[in-house]
Amino acid sequence: MSSTSLSPQPGVEALRRAAPGRVHVPGEAGYDAARTPWNLAAAQHPAVVAEPTSVEEVRALVDAARTAGLRIVPQTTGHAAAALGGRADGALLLQLRHLRGVEVDPAARTARVLGGTTWQEVVAAAAPHGLTAAHGSAGDVGVVGYALSGGLSFYGRRHGLAVEHVRAVELVLPTGELVRATADVEPDLFWACRGAAATLGVVTAVEIDLLPYPDVHAGMLLWDAVHAAAVLPAWLSWTEDLPESVTTSLRVMSFPPLPELPPFLSGRSVVVVDGAVLEDDDVAGALLAPLRTLDPEMDTFTRMPAPGLLEVHMDPPTPTPATSVHALLGPLDADGVAAVLAAATTPSPLLFTELRHLGGALARSNPEGGALTSLPGSYLLHCVGAVVSPEVGAAARAAGEGVLAAMRPWHVDGAALTFVDDVVEGTGSPAQAAFGADALRRLRIVSSVYDPTDAVVAARTLD
Ligand SMILES: Cc1cc2nc3c(=O)[nH]c(=O)nc-3n(C[C@H](O)[C@H](O)[C@H](O)COP(=O)(O)OP(=O)(O)OC[C@H]3O[C@@H](n4cnc5c(N)ncnc54)[C@H](O)[C@@H]3O)c2cc1C
Repeated sequence: MSSTSLSPQPGVEALRRAAPGRVHVPGEAGYDAARTPWNLAAAQHPAVVAEPTSVEEVRALVDAARTAGLRIVPQTTGHAAAALGGRADGALLLQLRHLRGVEVDPAARTARVLGGTTWQEVVAAAAPHGLTAAHGSAGDVGVVGYALSGGLSFYGRRHGLAVEHVRAVELVLPTGELVRATADVEPDLFWACRGAAATLGVVTAVEIDLLPYPDVHAGMLLWDAVHAAAVLPAWLSWTEDLPESVTTSLRVMSFPPLPELPPFLSGRSVVVVDGAVLEDDDVAGALLAPLRTLDPEMDTFTRMPAPGLLEVHMDPPTPTPATSVHALLGPLDADGVAAVLAAATTPSPLLFTELRHLGGALARSNPEGGALTSLPGSYLLHCVGAVVSPEVGAAARAAGEGVLAAMRPWHVDGAALTFVDDVVEGTGSPAQAAFGADALRRLRIVSSVYDPTDAVVAARTLD
């Protein structure tokens, strides 16, 4: 169904009253900008888009959507829009990016963060107090979409998944009721929110613990890809015997010649190791020494103010059309090292193949935590392609699935929900893999209580 055929939509006038000037239907100025997600490869054709700026507007919009029989699709940035797979079409897209703000309590080392806030705002607000947060590699990712689905950071091997740092969740349920869930109040809902809040309602705020780092030893090492056969096995072997203070990633990346790229990337294939070492400079230097003996062409590891960690992974600074797949890998034996080296260095339409080092606190389950507390495996394998055309996107996607298939003997059961962009053929339910059967059964029971009509459409479902 085309988006224009959906207008006029029943209930639009009630939605307009709920958020005056902030509701757009197809054909109106503002509709296209409001429906466009960060991942430009994911086309979204909602019946209506609303951009609330307050909790009251969110509640009123949810009430009006329920009366109109519209499903609700909360979205903050659209980094995960591809995972919706067209499910925003015909629904009310709630763009939450104007519901933003951060209040830091330096004494408690916590922050209260509104539902549409991105990590760069949290990190900027925490930094003057000598604090930071368990953000991921990109500062423009949303706090809720990341932290309540896990959240893998360069602080992860020491401090665990970001979801473990969530102390309270405030959400508007499909009934329009605003609830605050903590370990003491609505404990079942709080348990479910820590992993699956997005399936239960519209999150209007979270309270998170901050991390006590005013600065951090971080950066990247870069080699030409001709050195991948030396660097990749050396990095894998280095990761086998590291303290939990070290969390890094290795990527084999290939870039077309583009003027907007820095010269060290434009038109080149490179191997990059980046991340953080939560130690003093002498210890960090000693830990990094084995990689430095491989003579990197660039070496930016240094002590930097904690917000600098948002830059080291060089994620795209603006909306980008992308496709990605991932899998969790166990320890790699000699055959596994050879297989991942071959898969990562075979010319392909992929932009990069990445290994993120897991283990440490990321691997420790917390019985006192929520539905999701840990990630199994030694490495997260992540393949990303730029969707410069549908054909290139399909080829990149197939290449990524090929890399995953080549590494199947080393897969471990599990999934990182924040890296679920789409369902990969033959891999089963990401929810089953991420939560496990028992937690998923309990989540479905909670969901049947709080969202019995399945009114909320989440990128990562309980299917
Ligand atoms: C460049 C890039 C770098 C990344 N780096 C990392 C990384 O280092 N570590 C990591 O773990 N992940 C990473 N990710 C994945 C990212 O964390 C997930 O895709 C995350 O879900 C994005 O959240 P978002 O709010 O930005 O995106 P959105 O697409 O806006 O949100 C994703 C989903 O979260 C839910 N949601 C968002 N906001 C709300 C809300 N207020 N209320 C209810 N539901 C909501 C919705 O279901 C929505 O579909 C990265 C992704 C990209 C594209």
